[in-house]
Amino acid sequence: MAGIVYLIGAGPGDAGLLTIKGAACIKKADVIVYDYLADKKLLAYAADKAELIYVGKQADKHTMRQEEINQLLVDKAKMGKTVARLKGGDPFVFGRGGEEALALRQNGLQFEIVPGVTSAISAAAYAGIPVTHRKIAASFAVVTGHEDPTRQESGINWQNLAVGIDTLVFLMGVGNLPYITKQLIANGREPKTPAALVRWGTKPQQEVLVTTVENAAADVKKYGLKPPAVFVVGNVVKLRDSLRWFDNKELFGRQILITRARNQASKLTAGLEQLGASCIEAPVISIEKPDDAFAGLDNAIENIGAYEWIIFTSANGVSKFFERLANKKLDTRALGNMRIAAIGSSTAKVLCRYGVRADLVPHEFCAEGILAEMGTQVKRETKILLPRAKEARSVLPDELKKAGAQVDIVQCYKTVTADFDYEAVAAKLAAGEINIVTFTSSSTVTNLLKLLGNKKELLAGTVVACIGPITAETCRKNGINPTIIAKKYTIVGLISAIRDFYKQVN
Ligand code: SAH
Repeated sequence: MAGIVYLIGAGPGDAGLLTIKGAACIKKADVIVYDYLADKKLLAYAADKAELIYVGKQADKHTMRQEEINQLLVDKAKMGKTVARLKGGDPFVFGRGGEEALALRQNGLQFEIVPGVTSAISAAAYAGIPVTHRKIAASFAVVTGHEDPTRQESGINWQNLAVGIDTLVFLMGVGNLPYITKQLIANGREPKTPAALVRWGTKPQQEVLVTTVENAAADVKKYGLKPPAVFVVGNVVKLRDSLRWFDNKELFGRQILITRARNQASKLTAGLEQLGASCIEAPVISIEKPDDAFAGLDNAIENIGAYEWIIFTSANGVSKFFERLANKKLDTRALGNMRIAAIGSSTAKVLCRYGVRADLVPHEFCAEGILAEMGTQVKRETKILLPRAKEARSVLPDELKKAGAQVDIVQCYKTVTADFDYEAVAAKLAAGEINIVTFTSSSTVTNLLKLLGNKKELLAGTVVACIGPITAETCRKNGINPTIIAKKYTIVGLISAIRDFYKQVN
């Protein structure tokens, strides 16, 4: 079968700005060829077996020359592969997408173009600058800033451009600003025209420098602004004062380390990113089968009628319990009139998915909370089932037993240290680049330390945020000082505690 190459616009940086069609093409690709401006997060759409090829391209360090990239695409397509060629922004806006498509056509190979969100418009938009605006700008042009200033004849019609178009957006122009601004002024653009540089637009590290045409080159030098950036010229730049929305979010510019298991991290990450933070997901734990391969849990399910209470202490415990129940071809009805407690609101929510409303959710989401509220209901010989993690604390069963209950503890899962390369994380911590480290359970604390080779001093320069007092206590026991402790022991509670912390700091 003949291969095909999708030339895909990967968008400007914010991974959410990839098109739905672009994502679908990445998913079905055998080979993914990507470069420096395409966000690495997009690779998460790739199939496990897909071949990932980085072809670099940065102004000064070309990892692979354009001809070699063209050849690579031709070769892979000839082999019958489905290739996703990811290009920053839009593939046909200064992306040399046209050249890649021509090479494919000349070799009789199939391609499709999947347009993308160009940085020319979106970087400005994320800086609060619309490229057109009623009564201020009726036209805009996207111009290369990469033209060689020593060339005899310019490929740019400076005379018409300088005064004929309201908003000008230069790409690849940072190094060439003295030349660009000189040409604009020499050709009649008012020197005091507002201008802005937007570096790494749409990304958490976005930087914006507001200036004027006459001062732009000097300001860029003064502040040391580096590529990649777009240079926006025109009166629309003034609108940033009233339309700024992205780089003034509460947590903008903060880097936060998320330590939950990979499949559980997303809610915390999404919530923090919504507030402008940049999250690094570094799963420290992974959830695995219990040591007894569910023998204890299966046995308890077979005798489920014998229990008066089931206490669920985690969302994972609930899902594993109901998976094993289903495995025995049973459903919620097997629980009959049994009473059910959930340690917190997330656990209760997962129970609802199985059609069960918890009879008891304590005000304080921890073992002590359950004990305080169940106390009077526990009588001698009350039979209680406690399906939970292997590593859970003993206070709950100990206290229940003291009150006379018969408690059966069964393992639903165990948490083990994740297989993850921690060197990059350790380096970021050492360099002070991580503002906050979040812990959502005691096991995230102990496993992160394990992965960092027990170097707790790496956490000394960062703010530590814990989901609740038990996790905070585990931190202290391990010589880590937690600064933020959520008042409500949930993910939402943790997010709002982080928010409150920065409200005080700012
Ligand atoms: N095809 C791309 C442009 C490729 S040329 C697009 O449509 O966006 C590379 C130039 O694009 C960079 O030098 C810079 O000027 C600009 N650029 C790309 N991504 C950017 C970003 N996130 N923020 C600011 N400028 C960006």
